[in-house]
Amino acid sequence: MPGNLSFDDLKARVADGTIDTVLACFPDMQGRLMGKRFHAVNFVETSFKETHCCNYLLATDLEMATPDGYAATSWEKGYGDYVMAPDLTTIRLLPWLEGTAMVICDILDHHTHAPVPHAPRQVLKTQIARLKALGFDAMMATELEFFLFEQSFDDIRKGGFRDLTPISGYNEDYHILQTTKEEGVMRPIRNHLFGAGLPVENSKGEAETGQEEINIRYAEALACADHHTIAKNAIKEIAWQHGCAASFLPKWHHDKVGSSSHVHQSLWTGETPAFYDPEADLGMSELMKNYMAGLIAYAPDYTFFLAPYINSYKRFAKGTFAPTKTVWSVDNRTAGFRLCGDGTSGVRVECRIGGSDLNPYLAQAAMLAAGIKGIADKMELAPPTRGDVYEDAKAQDIPQTLRAATETLRNSAFLRAAMGDDVIDHYTRCAEWEQEEFDRVVTDWEIARGFERA
Ligand code: ADP
Repeated sequence: MPGNLSFDDLKARVADGTIDTVLACFPDMQGRLMGKRFHAVNFVETSFKETHCCNYLLATDLEMATPDGYAATSWEKGYGDYVMAPDLTTIRLLPWLEGTAMVICDILDHHTHAPVPHAPRQVLKTQIARLKALGFDAMMATELEFFLFEQSFDDIRKGGFRDLTPISGYNEDYHILQTTKEEGVMRPIRNHLFGAGLPVENSKGEAETGQEEINIRYAEALACADHHTIAKNAIKEIAWQHGCAASFLPKWHHDKVGSSSHVHQSLWTGETPAFYDPEADLGMSELMKNYMAGLIAYAPDYTFFLAPYINSYKRFAKGTFAPTKTVWSVDNRTAGFRLCGDGTSGVRVECRIGGSDLNPYLAQAAMLAAGIKGIADKMELAPPTRGDVYEDAKAQDIPQTLRAATETLRNSAFLRAAMGDDVIDHYTRCAEWEQEEFDRVVTDWEIARGFERA
């Protein structure tokens, strides 16, 4: 795609003055882009080799706090540096920012230059390598939903996050008339993302006032996670440039539908779709069935990676298209896992559990780990469920709260074996901290409920 640049392309554009700024970024634990803005001349002359950042960036929260309890770093250890090593295959133009290119970095130990195992990009690379050792590549797509508001982020914050006005006045699911009214923002989003080398498929109105979905064509897992992360950041920036706000909070209001990030996944051997067997029922190969059996059985273990915040769990309400059960079905939107493209070479599984706040590197890594386990153990796939799965009492639930998901994560022997104790301990601490912060805060809800009447 035209927005993707080689290092030589970048050097040429810096020499002719069309690029003056290079963003060197990496995805943090929350899936945000963190990094620095380089003068492009400095980047192409020296900093393309490496730059540095404080190592608290992979042991913090949305507020940039410095929680205790992380083995990797702390006040006691002096919060030293990490190396940010630019992955020069990820250089791209950012057409919504004048004269600017971006590169994604990997995080390395400052002293040994070994990859930092809990860095989200590395967590995913580890699972991709395990899959590669079995002879497969993973192709993924993460459909992203979000809300657009008429006000800017700054106005919303100054107003105490009250009186938010969604960009549409009615449910705009597949609506052409309403989405035409939003083209002032959505068209630049599609075109700028495309211009940055992201293969945008489409955007559409979603099933709530002001709700949008953007689809980017499936890609190899690491590229897909990079696309997701860049798109999320870009959508917020482009919305901000147009005086409005884009929010990926999964549930911004209890009476509104939540936002998800459904993850489509398939395995390939070179150009051959390994999930497809033309002779088999629904076109599902044995390999696909084993993968899906692992994906489904271990969903409670990795729910934290699909739903990492207190708010994430508010989305799991029945009758809202947000699933609560770890079962699969054929083209049925009430189950946690949906078979798509059945009977064709595009046969794949869609995980519908994740919210729009998931970190795609961690979510994809956890799902690959579960699928690999299913393949290694030749796990048997139960028959598909039918009908309204919300009412199926026998079906396994996913953890219903962050507290419960923290415990399934902490106690997951499978994830510890697949990702390493250090990584699981690191993210268990991340989950605990989020809960501790929430538990400490007095909410508006309890004041309104009890102030007079308790
Ligand atoms: P819709 O849900 O609108 O019918 P599609 O079913 O065509 O859309 O695709 C949904 C998502 O699945 C798209 O983002 C697409 O890129 C992705 N996808 C299509 N084929 C595969 C595949 N073999 N593996 C993984 N993702 C895929």
